[in-house]
Amino acid sequence: MCLLVAAIVSGPLSREARKENLPNMAQTTQTTFNLLKPLKEDYGVIKNFVDGEWVEVKTDRYLDIINPATAKSIGKVPLTPKAEVDKAIKAAHDAFWDWRSTPPIVRSRYLFKMKELLEQHFEEFARITVQEHGKAIDEARGEVRRSIENVETAAGITSLMMGYNLEDGAAKNIDETVVRQPLGVFAAVSPFNFPGMVPFWFWPFAIAAGNTFIIKVSEQTPLTLTRTYEVLAEAGLPEGVLSLVHGDKEAVDAILDSPLVKGVTFVGSTPVAKYIYSRCGETGKRCIAQAGAKNFLTVMPDAEIDRSISNMMASFFGNAGQRCLAGANLLAVGDIYDELKEKFVAAAKKLKVGPGLDESVNLGPVISAKSVARIHNYIDMAVKQGAEVLLDGRDVVVPGFEDGYFVGPTVLDKVTPDMTHAKEEIFGPVASIIRVKDLEEAIKVTNASPFGNAASIYTQSGRNARTFWYKVQAGNIGVNIGIAAAMAYFPFAGQKDSFFGIMHGQGRDAVQFFTDSKVVIARW
Ligand code: NAD
Repeated sequence: MCLLVAAIVSGPLSREARKENLPNMAQTTQTTFNLLKPLKEDYGVIKNFVDGEWVEVKTDRYLDIINPATAKSIGKVPLTPKAEVDKAIKAAHDAFWDWRSTPPIVRSRYLFKMKELLEQHFEEFARITVQEHGKAIDEARGEVRRSIENVETAAGITSLMMGYNLEDGAAKNIDETVVRQPLGVFAAVSPFNFPGMVPFWFWPFAIAAGNTFIIKVSEQTPLTLTRTYEVLAEAGLPEGVLSLVHGDKEAVDAILDSPLVKGVTFVGSTPVAKYIYSRCGETGKRCIAQAGAKNFLTVMPDAEIDRSISNMMASFFGNAGQRCLAGANLLAVGDIYDELKEKFVAAAKKLKVGPGLDESVNLGPVISAKSVARIHNYIDMAVKQGAEVLLDGRDVVVPGFEDGYFVGPTVLDKVTPDMTHAKEEIFGPVASIIRVKDLEEAIKVTNASPFGNAASIYTQSGRNARTFWYKVQAGNIGVNIGIAAAMAYFPFAGQKDSFFGIMHGQGRDAVQFFTDSKVVIARW
């Protein structure tokens, strides 16, 4: 049997930290993982984390949590009713003043403790993510790493949150100062596709800045963050600072309706983003709403295909295409078409489809049977509208996992931008090759999309690259990079129908979103 020792810790811990603050670390570093077996077959009915305690939800509404590789239930998620969400909000509200008055350097120390705890449980989180989401294990590890990077970045709050001052700024002997202050309770609503990471774009910055925070994770993938919070509770944050509620629209509406919630961050599909953004407007809440996507990759005639092909594979087929930064339409400019088509299909054919815990797998399953049906439907429609299937992922069978929700890499050729599947978000491993004559046409086609999350260009020409990023309407631009994912210390959001709001997630933008500036004019 193949075993993996979880020696993921990045550095030795001080003896003091082990003894006083992080009691389970030594034990967890020795944990061994069976490579193909999940950690647990059944997680039972999971709980909410409210006011520093794990509480059973009083509800008669539950959903099964499904492992998409097997289609089997691995637990149940309760759908929290409004009254219980209100209790969590009240507890967060009550915890605000003490937390807000805790000096930033002390708040930062909690984040350092949390970082160490996350490192210690790194492999465990990645494995739970694979179990409930399906993605390949290395992708899940990447997700945990990015989560930790957000905590590391937010731990710098003492610098990130500083105001500024001008002596004699208003007049002689009258100084003017700007301070940044937290606002109160914030809440996050997150999607299924990065179950652990997405909430980390927000909560570390929110609590570092002195707010309290409630997360409503996706009801399809609630396990990763539940386990993460069990671990983070060991850092000893004051009760009510960080809470977790499970649920669906009813829980989200309770957050939107509460006058105690000062702001909401949302990441998910465009229709829900529009709903949340407009409801926040009605109730006077701050809002970051990151939404759906349809990303175009432009390949210029001077592109180095051999150097870029694995990068393109990751963009189109990584996370089984369920990534807001995933490539969807491949724009082949001029003469590059034949070489690109041949090499792209050859590389896609080599990708291995299977259960995400298998280290040799490139593509895990998609999230649900409903997703499989939606993706198949888009491919069927594409064919009816004149596209040619160069590689068909519809009939893929994974031995031993026949019930799993697998779709293999699919490549469609002879696609035109007006075809339905080329315009709408498929959220699956489907690449559409569209021929264009030059860079100007590629930019025009890209900008005609209502979405604007990400766009990439493959070229060796600095001039082409500059023209591209100057003109393309998308929030994240890749140059010879297919997944332009901003690091934790850079802002992250799209444009057009991919984003509603002003401040972005992560880094300094997040700190601004979670704080307000106050001007003090003083004469002594
Ligand atoms: P989704 O919109 O279905 O769900 C997201 C969250 O909203 C979940 O927590 C869900 O419970 C809640 N929700 C669903 N319907 C609701 C309603 N009617 N009212 C209130 N709340 C509701 O999205 P999903 O399927 O979980 O995630 C995939 C989508 O997320 C894709 O469109 C993808 O592009 C997008 N996404 C965007 C980004 C980004 O940064 N722009 C990042 C990741 C995912």
